[in-house]
Amino acid sequence: MGNRITSLFKIKYPIIQAGMIWCSGWELASSVSNAGGLGIIGAGSMYPEVLDEQILKCKAETSKPFAVNLPMLYPEIDKHIDTLIKHKVPIVFTSAGNPKTWTKHFQDHGIVVVHVVSSVKFALKAEAAGADAIVAEGFEAGGHNGRDETTTLCLIPMVAQAIKIPLIAAGGIGTGRTMLATMTLGADAVHIGSRFVASEESSAHINFKNSVIEAKEGDTQLTLKEITPVRLMKNTFYKQVSDAYANGASIEDLKTLLGKGRAKKGMFEGDLEEGELEIGQISGLIHEIKPAKTIVDEILDEYREAIAENTTEKYNF
Ligand code: NDP
Repeated sequence: MGNRITSLFKIKYPIIQAGMIWCSGWELASSVSNAGGLGIIGAGSMYPEVLDEQILKCKAETSKPFAVNLPMLYPEIDKHIDTLIKHKVPIVFTSAGNPKTWTKHFQDHGIVVVHVVSSVKFALKAEAAGADAIVAEGFEAGGHNGRDETTTLCLIPMVAQAIKIPLIAAGGIGTGRTMLATMTLGADAVHIGSRFVASEESSAHINFKNSVIEAKEGDTQLTLKEITPVRLMKNTFYKQVSDAYANGASIEDLKTLLGKGRAKKGMFEGDLEEGELEIGQISGLIHEIKPAKTIVDEILDEYREAIAENTTEKYNF
């Protein structure tokens, strides 16, 4: 039993925990992999020696496959790439860059490459570059996102029609029902971020985890499109950004306002006012911090429950 993604990654369930800067270290990645999904270490916020240590700890904690997310705009990318190859990390999720640059290099070292995109155009580019699978991420997703605002509901069936390689859906998924919905639309697996931020094993600051479980519908916004589009919680920093827009801020003004290290300040150090709090719209549906294994199990239970319901009167007409 299995589908294209469980076979490609050699995992039990097509549930992938997204790589998230400051939130997904070895504790979370190994827990999700041990629960039968695929855990991802988010390398974007890690200095080279930190990534090295995180991979060793992850390997000590799980014998199951795990992955690393490598944003291609990372300043010391060559060092990260050497580390991934040295440790024979089985799967790499590349994002925020051109998939042509590194895909073949990783594959030549036996590494499976998945590229993250937010449009049909870039899905086709990733396929042409030889990626083994893609993640298509809709407008609902937290953190860095596409400019076109295509929702997961529209993006997944369009990408599914356009490409032949396996497709992983992201954005707005955090429950078994949202998993089934996107699998029905053509995805082979789901990529879940926000729900795992609110896990016991996530390295996010407890203040940030608590703000995620308190979030309601409408509490996040996609902004800063002129720099890198990002979905944030509407806190004091977000208010400063929207005031800057109202006052006709230039790109330089926005860059100055953002400064350096905002994401660390908010998500890792717990400054809920001045920090950048990257989270998805699905946060309005997350109400408790739980162990990662419980999250995986609950998603699977709800997925199976929703499948069973498909035989009921509601669906038969
Ligand atoms: P900033 O430029 O505001 O801050 C850089 C942060 O990354 C600092 O907090 C720093 O930690 C940490 N860091 C880790 N390794 C390095 C390094 N080699 N050189 C400099 N800083 C490093 O960036 P953001 O916080 O907005 O983003 C952090 C990272 O996230 C980016 O470097 C990028 O790789 C990644 N990113 C990922 C995206 C994606 O699509 N997944 C999109 C955009 C960014 P410290 O404070 O301890 O020095």
